[in-house]
Amino acid sequence: MRVKYALTSKGDSVSDEILAKMKNYLTEFNLVLDDEEPDLVISIGGDGTLLEAFHTYIHRLDKTAFIGVHTGHLGFYADWMPKELEKLIIEVARTPFQVVEYPLLEITIRPKGDGEEDRFLALNECSVKTAEGSVVLDVEIKGEHFETFRGDGLCISTPSGSTAYNKALGGAIIHPSLEAIQITEMASINNRVFRTVGSPLILPKHHTCLLKPLHDRSFMITLDHITRQYSDVKSIQCRVAREKVRFARFRPFPFWKRVHDSFITDEQ
Ligand code: NAD
Repeated sequence: MRVKYALTSKGDSVSDEILAKMKNYLTEFNLVLDDEEPDLVISIGGDGTLLEAFHTYIHRLDKTAFIGVHTGHLGFYADWMPKELEKLIIEVARTPFQVVEYPLLEITIRPKGDGEEDRFLALNECSVKTAEGSVVLDVEIKGEHFETFRGDGLCISTPSGSTAYNKALGGAIIHPSLEAIQITEMASINNRVFRTVGSPLILPKHHTCLLKPLHDRSFMITLDHITRQYSDVKSIQCRVAREKVRFARFRPFPFWKRVHDSFITDEQ
């Protein structure tokens, strides 16, 4: 069976040039360009470009594998460099390829009244903030009240997203072989009146967290790079999703090596 592929670009001249080159080579190697139903999506740009590709093909995660080429600085998901392009093209042409699966975050936003709920998936994280003072939420874990949060907001991240916004908030880095989500606080108010745990929380699969707003606020709910405005929110439910994201692997690039190269040094 001929592999169907799609290419996405950040849109700058370097990324577009690489896209054109890949398209020519992959067509020569008999692969089929198919933007609608690709087996393989190659994103060229950075992590932001891969996040966009993920959300574009979110309806066929079980059938599509992703790969990222970075044209800026080393990306976390975009981990192929332009100088490795020929190697990558040969590897892609030589399919079948190996796939690694990473856990995703499922968010369900329920409105007050009887409106429809919204269900989303995130590859990195969901953050809940407001432009109207503090975020005030009851936090329930597995159906039990855990704390009342007051502060700038909360970030709920996946293991592969733990090196992104979560890390900047003091969260732990979690290996993506662990099916978990992590909740990190943004500037919680802690004094004699208000109290939160203050530490990042790591929840395993099947432990659902429910965030229930205590005040009528409009919330900015961000999923990866996409922000939506919500008012009249009854609850925001967070848990490990049933779905997973699939990355095509053509060479070993262990997670901890990626963490080392991104945050310590990428000198060999
Ligand atoms: P962007 O593409 O400018 O991304 C911001 C930075 O986050 C880039 O350097 C990117 O390489 C890095 N990044 C993205 N995913 C990563 C991951 N899983 N591990 C390590 N680094 C990662 O901006 P965008 O397109 O709006 O991307 C949205 C992402 O930006 C969000 O998912 C969030 O994680 C991240 N972000 C980070 C901060 C922060 O670190 N303070 C604040 C807001 C958003």
